[in-house]
Amino acid sequence: MAPAMNPARLLPGALVVLAAALVAAGCGPSSRSAAGAAPDGPGAAAAALVGPHVHRGLRVEVDFVEGRRPGDAALETLRQRLLERTDHPDGVEVVLDDLLAPTGRERHTLEDVRALGRLHRDAEAGDRGVIHVLVLDGEADPSLGHHLLGAAVGPTSIVLFPDAILRAVGGSATRAQDLLRWTLVHEAGHLLGLVNLGAPQAVSHEDLAKRGHCDQPGCVMRWSGDERVTDFCPRCKDDLRQLGGR
Ligand SMILES: [Zn+2]
Ligand SMILES: [Zn+2]
Repeated sequence: MAPAMNPARLLPGALVVLAAALVAAGCGPSSRSAAGAAPDGPGAAAAALVGPHVHRGLRVEVDFVEGRRPGDAALETLRQRLLERTDHPDGVEVVLDDLLAPTGRERHTLEDVRALGRLHRDAEAGDRGVIHVLVLDGEADPSLGHHLLGAAVGPTSIVLFPDAILRAVGGSATRAQDLLRWTLVHEAGHLLGLVNLGAPQAVSHEDLAKRGHCDQPGCVMRWSGDERVTDFCPRCKDDLRQLGGR
């Protein structure tokens, strides 16, 4: 069995910067209040998404532009992680919802992304909490982050840029699938309050140089790392358990 962090497969230096750009929209220090999450930022709904007291179940709604459908394996990994870490009697479902026409835009600003989210996101249904995943053509405007792969753009919203992801791995379809999965689980982790973004730390493990991220090896909440990593470390799991999860 290959080691979890095979150095030969670590992201090359350039990609570390790309992965770092993930946080630009949501978890940079400027968007945080003293308590952790900003009121309209990732982590603001963490307790409701993680614990059993607000929602009976979670629904992940995926709206994607033609030709950018996320792979089933990535979506199933996300469903599994949410199921394992959150506590909802009705469980977690992931729904491929709207097939969107190409936006035709080469660059999306944060406002563009939020407007598209408002346009396509379905109304919250009954007792289910909703995480909305918007998968776009084109790439993020540099004002959002250079070579951004994806971002948590609100308390329950994620945007993915698969074109940027494919470019980041030099066009390798296999690595792109892994990196998309990593991005999806990582951004969902921010919505769940990781790290120190709405989920108080049981034991301190926030990377103080990369706020909102984990300093533990082999954790999907690190600022950057091996794109094959798909899970939270024990300290991140402790935080989620403390917040009402499992
Ligand atoms: Zn991040
Ligand atoms: Zn961690």
